[in-house]
Amino acid sequence: MYAESTLEFQSLNLLPSILSQVEAKGYTHPTPIQVQAIPPLLEGKDLLGIAKTGSGKTAAFSLPLIDKLGRNKVNITPNHIRSLILSPTRELASQIENNIINYSEGLELKTKVVFGGVGKQPQIEALNLGLDVLVATPGRLLDLIERGHIQFDELEVLVLDEADMMLDMGFLGDVKKVISFLPQNKQTLLFSATMPGAIENLANNLLHTPVKVEVDSESSLGEAIEQKIYTVEKINKGYLLHSMLEDPELTSVLLFCKTKFGAERIVENLQRTSVACATIHSNKSQSERERALRAFREGEIRILVATDIAARGIDIKHVSHVINYNLPEDPKNYIHRIGRTGRAGNKGVAISFCVESEVVLLKNIGKLIKRKFEIDSNQPFHKEISFSAKASAKSKNSKKKKQRRHKG
Ligand code: ADP
Ligand code: MG
Repeated sequence: MYAESTLEFQSLNLLPSILSQVEAKGYTHPTPIQVQAIPPLLEGKDLLGIAKTGSGKTAAFSLPLIDKLGRNKVNITPNHIRSLILSPTRELASQIENNIINYSEGLELKTKVVFGGVGKQPQIEALNLGLDVLVATPGRLLDLIERGHIQFDELEVLVLDEADMMLDMGFLGDVKKVISFLPQNKQTLLFSATMPGAIENLANNLLHTPVKVEVDSESSLGEAIEQKIYTVEKINKGYLLHSMLEDPELTSVLLFCKTKFGAERIVENLQRTSVACATIHSNKSQSERERALRAFREGEIRILVATDIAARGIDIKHVSHVINYNLPEDPKNYIHRIGRTGRAGNKGVAISFCVESEVVLLKNIGKLIKRKFEIDSNQPFHKEISFSAKASAKSKNSKKKKQRRHKG
């Protein structure tokens, strides 16, 4: 559970309808980022919020935003918006929209999400009416701006959510372009799990004397996730997965692999043994992605096989296990991946397969999260792997020699 905070939501000075929605959600206390961010945001300050995934950032910005818009209802000019929330992926944007609609019930705020991969017409029609809250991914937003569907003279608040992920996904240029259309005078919030240089620069340019709130940044993973490493031979990975699935404790598994092709192959194999599963990656249509997510959320499928891009930031309650079928090349993605379990005070287990060639990746992850991994040999396909740098250099050399011999 979150560390007991003595502060109650009730003392946060939010509109009564917002407080009752929060209560209906079953939140008893604000999370640390909410405790620190909500009061200055209610005062209208700019804010830089750094907190790891699963720490409750969405409510940290949504609640004060809704409060501000709900206290001061205005007639919005057609095609104008009062607030803009930028989010890197369609799924995250939808999630934020759902949260806003939920928290603002009874306040009659006009909220809409826009993203690519679906028809523009309903988005254009919603914009025609004017909006209190627009949640958007950068690409579709720019398209709509350039076609003249959105005006920003009435913009009061800008929120950049998951800024580091926007950077990783190559959206920083688009984000800056969007910002160039916005008025100077507004409240700006930037949230990020990590603070790479490019995001720090963006924050420095964008925020005016911001309040900085930093709670458990991403390099400090919570204690809620038990992390295990299984060393295995590549050809045995499939068997290992099957044997693990005999354990009924693996109720709801998010499995990450490197490629879309790999994801499809894993699912084919699982389906052969009638395990309910689905894939989610960027080759899937929006409706396929949504269907897979819904089925996973509702427990209709036991395993969701994902690539990094498709699954980051997604908030699915009760993911019992995250399995890394491959270790991620970028160690930061390890944190993003395993952060899908152990959310909101639940316990979670993260199991990573590691083949000999991935030892260096495992070491990089260990460096990032400041942890020395113990290998868990208590699994049927355990393979001894050498971890000393010397040994791996040696094996590389002997491989080269072999190749040379082969060529010669
Ligand atoms: P982040 O954006 O930091 O990754 P989210 O905003 O997606 O995190 O929240 C993670 C989970 O925590 C969500 O399921 C959300 O409903 C839950 N949550 C948010 N605030 C609270 C709270 N005050 N008490 C309990 N659960 C909360
Ligand atoms: Mg988030």
